[in-house]
Amino acid sequence: MRLRNIAGSREVIADSDFTIKDPQTKKGLFKKEVFENDNPIHLEIGMGKGRFLMDMASLHPDINYVGIEKYSSVLLRAIQKQEQLLLPNVRFIRMDAELITEVFAPGEVDRIYLNFSDPWPKDRHAKRRLPSREFLRRYDRILVPDGVVEFKTDNRELFDFALEEIEPAGWTLNRVTYDLHNDTDMNGGNVMTEYEERFSKLGNPIYKYIISR
Ligand code: SAM
Repeated sequence: MRLRNIAGSREVIADSDFTIKDPQTKKGLFKKEVFENDNPIHLEIGMGKGRFLMDMASLHPDINYVGIEKYSSVLLRAIQKQEQLLLPNVRFIRMDAELITEVFAPGEVDRIYLNFSDPWPKDRHAKRRLPSREFLRRYDRILVPDGVVEFKTDNRELFDFALEEIEPAGWTLNRVTYDLHNDTDMNGGNVMTEYEERFSKLGNPIYKYIISR
């Protein structure tokens, strides 16, 4: 998702109380200094306009949610929504997730959501895919020992790729479905993302896995 450049979006992000500026200075301090509580931290990496993150945050006030998004123009939409909702347990970071281990300390994060990640279809770009083994190694460094990664997509090629990456990266497949919305077990408590709603309306099945180390 990349909206056209919106004039002033960087300034809005810099001024917002809900974005974390210089996030590497908060490494190891997210609970204490950012949220000022001891609740678990869940990340959505590539959150887009933040609908999933904010819906989850209002359903689960005892979880701290951090949304990570690369593009200012997209993050701006999330900030605008949060300025109205004022959810106390939501913050955003504008960054490339490649740098995630510079921002979060070992064991600082309890769960990572990857929703409808960009597919990067060319082989030479495989390392940029958020469920790739390179990214799983980064997640390994910031998650608590029993932390999980939850991944949803309607892209079968990306999902097959993601499944193949699990074992070489040293992770374990806990649960998997090839049709989330018709899987009564795995769909319990499911919160739809913006892309999930769009693609399931077209009739696309939604794939999901949950993995751990
Ligand atoms: N998760 C949302 C949803 O399901 O509706 C948005 C999905 S959109 C296809 C993928 C988003 O991930 C885009 O907004 C894109 O900018 C962001 N993204 C992709 N690679 C990223 C990276 N390396 N770091 C941070 N954000 C990234």
